Amino acid sequence: MSNRNRVSYIKKHQKPERSHRNSIYKQYIESSRWTDKKNAYYRSDRPQACVICGDRNFDIHHITYERFGNELLTDLVALCRGHHDLLHKERQPAWDLEKWTYTFIGREICQQSVRC
Ligand SMILES: [Zn+2]
Ligand SMILES: [Zn+2]
Repeated sequence: MSNRNRVSYIKKHQKPERSHRNSIYKQYIESSRWTDKKNAYYRSDRPQACVICGDRNFDIHHITYERFGNELLTDLVALCRGHHDLLHKERQPAWDLEKWTYTFIGREICQQSVRC
């Protein structure tokens, strides 16, 4: 298998997960392309603080890996380290990441709100 085929094979069959130390994931996250993407995010009108607790010191979470490596800014959302870790820790591998992200954010916001 050529290297190129190998990369697309892995991309197709193995969704990049932070916790799996997937090398493709790691390579991209350490690349200048990802740095550029993050900078585009910081300049955008996307949330510039954890969408749950408002912490301005945040990670950028992938709502979906569908366009991994070529994300739309709407595929990304700000979460503080604590909420980001918790989201990934609680997620079961079989759960759809996009659905789980919204469920998790909704649940956490609800827990913080006096109206819920
Ligand atoms: Zn937070
Ligand atoms: Zn994440």
